[in-house]
Amino acid sequence: MFLTVHASAGIYIGTVITNPWLAFILAIISHLILDAVPHGDENIGKETDRKKKIIKLSIIAFVDTLGVVILYYFLTSYFITPSPAIILGIIGSIMPDYLWGVYELTKNKILGWISIHILSYFHNILHTRVSLPVGMLIQALTLLFFITLVIL
Ligand SMILES: [Zn+2]
Repeated sequence: MFLTVHASAGIYIGTVITNPWLAFILAIISHLILDAVPHGDENIGKETDRKKKIIKLSIIAFVDTLGVVILYYFLTSYFITPSPAIILGIIGSIMPDYLWGVYELTKNKILGWISIHILSYFHNILHTRVSLPVGMLIQALTLLFFITLVIL
């Protein structure tokens, strides 16, 4: 699932939970739960060519992180006041995918264990796959859902 979608959940958590570290932990958990929802982009980054894969993932990560920043500025400009809980909510909500990205780059053993036994585990928990278009729709609705919760 895209970072921007995860971040929308993290922002919502940060608006409800005022303790920044609790928001951080709950945001990490929200990441795992959202990743369990079939979301169509599971095959992104499955290229066999390592160089191509890293370039592609870096571009996606860059654009997606830009999406997180835009979402944050949009919501804090018009609807919510920035707070440490919101910032840590965002960081917690997107951190698992960054850990996975660092693992892809470094092949670090500890990050590899986390990626395989925790992140991939939640991704595959439902054993259901949807197509990319259906997945994009699910992600767009999830994003709208959390933005609505934040705004209301
Ligand atoms: Zn993820």
